[in-house]
Amino acid sequence: MNLVQLLVRAARVHGDRPALHRGAAVLCDYRGLAARAAAIGGHLRERAGLAPGARVGLFMGNCPEYLEALYGAWWAGLAVVPINAKLHPREALYILGHAQAGALFVSPDLAGGLLPLLGEAPSVRHVFETGTPGYRALAGGPAAAPAHRRPEDLAWLFYTSGTTGRPKGVAQTHRMLMAMTTSYFTDVDAVDGADAAVYAAPMSHGAGLYALPYTLAAARHVVPESGAFDPAELAGLAGSVGRLAMFAAPTMVKRLVAGVEAAGADPAGFKTIVYGGGPMYVEDIRHALAVMGDRFVQIYGQGEAPMTITALSRAHLADHGHPRWLARLASVGVAQSPVEVRVAAADGTVLPAGETGEVQVRGDVVMAEYWRDPQATARALRDGWLWTGDVGALDEEGFLTLKDRSKDVIISGGSNIYPREIEEVLLTHPGVAEVSVVGMPDADWGESVVAFVVPTPRSAPLTADLDRLCLDRIARFKRPKHYRFVDALPKNHYGKVLKTELKAALAGGPDEPAPPK
Ligand code: ATP
Repeated sequence: MNLVQLLVRAARVHGDRPALHRGAAVLCDYRGLAARAAAIGGHLRERAGLAPGARVGLFMGNCPEYLEALYGAWWAGLAVVPINAKLHPREALYILGHAQAGALFVSPDLAGGLLPLLGEAPSVRHVFETGTPGYRALAGGPAAAPAHRRPEDLAWLFYTSGTTGRPKGVAQTHRMLMAMTTSYFTDVDAVDGADAAVYAAPMSHGAGLYALPYTLAAARHVVPESGAFDPAELAGLAGSVGRLAMFAAPTMVKRLVAGVEAAGADPAGFKTIVYGGGPMYVEDIRHALAVMGDRFVQIYGQGEAPMTITALSRAHLADHGHPRWLARLASVGVAQSPVEVRVAAADGTVLPAGETGEVQVRGDVVMAEYWRDPQATARALRDGWLWTGDVGALDEEGFLTLKDRSKDVIISGGSNIYPREIEEVLLTHPGVAEVSVVGMPDADWGESVVAFVVPTPRSAPLTADLDRLCLDRIARFKRPKHYRFVDALPKNHYGKVLKTELKAALAGGPDEPAPPK
């Protein structure tokens, strides 16, 4: 139950396997990676004097040093606090202060913005700037023995991406992340030592958590040279390294598929593309399967229950002839092995299959608490169940379909309207590249439906066409009353649409009313 054992075992059993790549180049084997983690751990504990349980901030883009710092901190018995490198230094400062971090690893490109502000985060007494001669000496120093940790000890303080407010610090324990790691093999992908996890999404979020199953399998960890998501670079790595497994948000999948399609490239070097973190529309996943073949797995999770509450397996996605294939594509799959999933009404009554309510989860991957936020913890964890804030329904076979986040549900004239259903319909129009549907205060109806549409470059659809499409496919009351055509949707650093900003943009009223009934 101590995550550092993943690395200790990999180094013992498969010490000479390649562990870490920068692009196609191998940087070290498992023995080397463990030695560096042991040296960093020794320094943090013996010289910096950080006590087990102390928090260490990681403010770095995707880079090979990420994994050294992660395992180095765990080696010393500390908890990591990964911070998205794209955050403003002030946002990073908020997280460091909230986590009461005692130390910080920062990459040179981010140090200039953050270090001058550190006086405002007095808990941070030790700063390690990667890439400097001092840091290199630290990682090459004498090794220490790994610290003992208990399953319930804090391993990772996971700050949510903040689509619904300020990021919350989810306390993830060694037990949770170990349960997530082992269930990955049965529920998501049978990882093999020859596989290569490539970090295209931020390692500070879900993609970084996925380093754990690949360490357990003593597989390769590949950090792209750009440190970022670049479809052309990934296609190159698929050719040179091969057997790539990656986690990608739906927007990244779309871009990757478009890149592969445009280049007529062979997708064979991608073993597994795990997508999730936000809704993947049916049209988009059908297209992805057609272009790249059966190499996708969908996961649904959240920081509070990482990263997989349910999974739609490769086999489910590949079962094109199944009578419920399309319905399954619209779902997020079935509960993974360490969790129970149910759907409940607002008063907690458990609902039968087919009925819509809030998704609840119980099991080993559920968080211990929100860090230093007992009120939010009490709202989210009730009677042993995590209230996810997501609205959905289970079918008779246990497939979960998400309707939306409860905060995004539109209540118009007393009826619940799920924006995702309308978005799915509008996306089938060839002139719609992206869409997001939100509610706007309405004196008569409580709320009215507004669609923000990003048209495709060649053909901007007419409001009347979109309205007709909705009338053909969904109940009259659900169709948008207003359309707003925009060049782009506001997104956060994980590619998630910020509906809070769309709603704020409507403060002055909608632009363009739909035609009268
Ligand atoms: P915050 O909690 O601060 O608002 P956030 O919503 O981005 O931030 P995360 O933990 O980063 O929090 O994201 C989890 C949420 O992402 C889930 O609760 C769900 O709404 C959405 N999500 C995750 N996977 C899927 C999926 N496969 N399909 C649809 N939505 C998903």
